[in-house]
Amino acid sequence: MTLAIGVDIGGTKVAAGVVDEDGRILAKLRRSTPAASPRRTEQAIADAVTELLGQHQVTAIGLGAAGFVDSARATMLFAPNLAWRDEPLKQRVEERLGREVVVENDANASAWAEARFGAARGYRDVMLVALGTGIGAGILIGGELYRGRWGIAGEPGHVRVVPDGRLCGCGNRGCWEQYCSGNALVAEAREFARRTPEGAIRLLQLGGGGPEGISGPVITQAATEGDPAALRCFQTIGGWLGQGLADLAAILDPACFVIGGGVSEAGDLLLDPARAAFERALTGRGYRPLAEIKVAQLGEDAGIVGAADLARVSRQMTPSPSAPTQTAFSQTASSQTTAPSSPSSGSPGPGPDGSFIRSTSMANPVTNAATAQKAAIPDTPQPAAVATTR
Ligand SMILES: [Zn+2]
Repeated sequence: MTLAIGVDIGGTKVAAGVVDEDGRILAKLRRSTPAASPRRTEQAIADAVTELLGQHQVTAIGLGAAGFVDSARATMLFAPNLAWRDEPLKQRVEERLGREVVVENDANASAWAEARFGAARGYRDVMLVALGTGIGAGILIGGELYRGRWGIAGEPGHVRVVPDGRLCGCGNRGCWEQYCSGNALVAEAREFARRTPEGAIRLLQLGGGGPEGISGPVITQAATEGDPAALRCFQTIGGWLGQGLADLAAILDPACFVIGGGVSEAGDLLLDPARAAFERALTGRGYRPLAEIKVAQLGEDAGIVGAADLARVSRQMTPSPSAPTQTAFSQTASSQTTAPSSPSSGSPGPGPDGSFIRSTSMANPVTNAATAQKAAIPDTPQPAAVATTR
């Protein structure tokens, strides 16, 4: 049984764990993130890994980081809640540890974990949508993570759903995550309590008196007790969720959506209205199978488990002098690298590709193609029990 370390790096905490091949966490620790300083954040990561390395023999180390990871999976292009701007995270942490690490976006790592060991086990076409401060998302197509050309795919939180709507942290207005996230749920409840305090008595009680005390867990508790105001908040957020999932289904047609993040702990209080809205909004409804909409199973451990497993799998696939034979995974990789010769992708070189890239992300495209983008969920039969609406 080989072990790997996964590290989940967010704006407030660094959580690291030792994970076995079945996705079980054998040891775990967490530290607060010194988010304002890239160097101190990297040191906190290295310290956590070093502590775990003192107790366990591991074959691989993976980092799942909240931000835009470049296509070489080495550099953090941008992180909304950390000070990373074009930061060579892989290199910096490897220098501190003296060992190779694999870097991945945190939502991608979570999506991978849910598909391998959690709610979407057995599915190969999966989208994870995690509702927290905003919306985090990861996409698996045919069992492989889809990262996009620049590593930034899967940001549906910033799809505009309301023209000239609520202002978003990204600078645009009307983004989906302004209507469908943990923050949106809390904003909805506080706004209701301000407007109609006599209808929000239970929410205000649980929140300690004022609207500002109303938090996500408070709303979930009130809704669990059957409080109409809290239930209405989940109806609203769930409605936005289902509508957005229908839009995503129109593009990706996944077999399974996994809903994660703190809000998902409300379970069917959120998912029932989401499923209803999804069925109302889905194009071709009645004449197509419905994607499953499931609550995430791994909770806040998903990032650790996914980062560790991706690192372990990508280490198994890395060709080494002692193991020259091709694995099933590297065959997937070579078919991927030959695929872009289709007319739509054009030829490499100057053009739209050149405008955005930093030197770090394109330093070695051959290596990128060989080392990134090749982990795939093993080919297990897709569950066939998908009901249609007819
Ligand atoms: Zn936005």
